[in-house]
Amino acid sequence: MAALRGVGIGQGVATGPVRRMAEALPAPENVPTTLGADAERTRAQEAIADVAADLTRRAEAVDGAAQEVLEAQAMIAEDPTLADEVEERIAAGATAEWAVHDAFAGFRASLEAIGGYLGERAADLDDIAQRVLARLRGVAAPGVPDPGYPFVLVARDLAPADTALLDLDKVLALITTDGGPTSHTAILAREKGIVAVVGAVDAAGLADDETVIVDAAAGTITTEPSADELARATARAAEKQAADTAPPTPGALADGTPIALLANLGKPGDAVDAVARGAEGVGLFRTEFLFLSSTNAPTVSAQREAYRELLAAFPGRKVVVRVLDAGADKPLPFLNDAHEENPALGLRGLRALRASEDILREQLTALAEAQAETEADLWVMAPMVATVEETAYFTAIAREYGLRTAGIMVEVPASALLADRLLAHADFASIGTNDLTQYTMAADRLLGSVASFQDPWHPAVLRLVAEVGRAGAALGKPVGVCGEAAADPLLAVVLAGLGVGSLSMAPAALADVRRALAQHTLEDARRIAAAALAADDAGAARAAAQAAAAPDPSLPTR
Ligand code: PEP
Ligand code: MG
Repeated sequence: MAALRGVGIGQGVATGPVRRMAEALPAPENVPTTLGADAERTRAQEAIADVAADLTRRAEAVDGAAQEVLEAQAMIAEDPTLADEVEERIAAGATAEWAVHDAFAGFRASLEAIGGYLGERAADLDDIAQRVLARLRGVAAPGVPDPGYPFVLVARDLAPADTALLDLDKVLALITTDGGPTSHTAILAREKGIVAVVGAVDAAGLADDETVIVDAAAGTITTEPSADELARATARAAEKQAADTAPPTPGALADGTPIALLANLGKPGDAVDAVARGAEGVGLFRTEFLFLSSTNAPTVSAQREAYRELLAAFPGRKVVVRVLDAGADKPLPFLNDAHEENPALGLRGLRALRASEDILREQLTALAEAQAETEADLWVMAPMVATVEETAYFTAIAREYGLRTAGIMVEVPASALLADRLLAHADFASIGTNDLTQYTMAADRLLGSVASFQDPWHPAVLRLVAEVGRAGAALGKPVGVCGEAAADPLLAVVLAGLGVGSLSMAPAALADVRRALAQHTLEDARRIAAAALAADDAGAARAAAQAAAAPDPSLPTR
């Protein structure tokens, strides 16, 4: 056996024969048109319109993130700037094929130069360009193979349109050689529950029909597996399948210590899926996601309607709504209009809301009205709180509106270090490990070049979490985690050991975290957390926790 490495998405494992995705269509040559500019223009326009219509049709056939990705692709295909670029090349004597190829390549290069999230969108442009070229040449667009039996799909970076429509009865697992953990392929794979390892550079050498084990939990692809390895992987896959389809139970450690399992949501429509997956409530509702494309502040009535719909899905349950977290990666034009050199360190989160207090007051009004109309237990919290004074400000203003439970997000090291003093003024704390890691490690969460620093397993981050856990216990105030760290099953156990009482995550992650928690008592969790805390870096902390969590073969099994 040999193991290839990549980034695993989720916790699944699958085995099967490899099938490679067909190579891209060859690039056209830059030869002068023989048809004339008018004919080339019509051909290009028709091909682009057909592709956009096809993507829209595909979007209508699916829902959730898949739908959003396909709709976004259809919009890119019809982007007027791209159309102008194509037109410019045709006017200069190019064929429709060359004009499309060259214009899309130019756009792709600009995205790649920006890097981070936008850089990872570059694959979307390639896919659209390929579809338009196929249309112009009258051939089928490159797509997922269909050998007639289930297979492990190996691709450079799967097009979002293909990922969205993958037939899970045929595709056992997905391996990409390009693409990172925030690429669309990864986002969609996570949502669909596809076993996936992305960014596995060496998988380019895999051959059709060779059998592999794809282990997303370990981020590995095992080639030439032994019969034993295959049997173990198959047993693990069956165990996971049984656990995923078992009726969800409330989150708890093995000794019964409750650890509430909550959902991170960005729109009310996602509540149904969260409830079906056993979310015990909502730990983070990102209100800014509702208004990312708005140029004006949302009205009270539009907000009330959205919050009412969300709260109505969780009668008697806790729903934590975060007030608008504008700035940095989520700019809202009506809150962040000034240019900032370092927006992550600028007027974002509560700072931006205070600067436009009327918008905060309108949001609190809408939340109070939605609370009055529904049965949910509404908690409100402020993002990017850094001081005691900000904490006191937010809880006081929330109480003015009759909002019963008001807390803060701990995302800045300063608030973790002074958690006892901040919590004296707040009803609860929710740790945002995405930003807390970014600020602790001084590593922009959107920048691929510093991605290795963006690891919440780092003992510096864990020590800050422990500080907040201790403060919560001392003051009798609930402490939760709502960053991505909560979705990592072993890290979830560590967080419980550090005094965290609730974990909020993408609903698709709930089953794996529930299962991991149920395997360890609170005493175990504290021991595993201590092992991670004692490590020197993130990798060592993960390894130490793995070793501490592994069953001791010398002990009788429970
Ligand atoms: C976080 O920072 O961990 C968090 C949950 O907030 P967001 O990811 O929306 O910044
Ligand atoms: Mg944050």
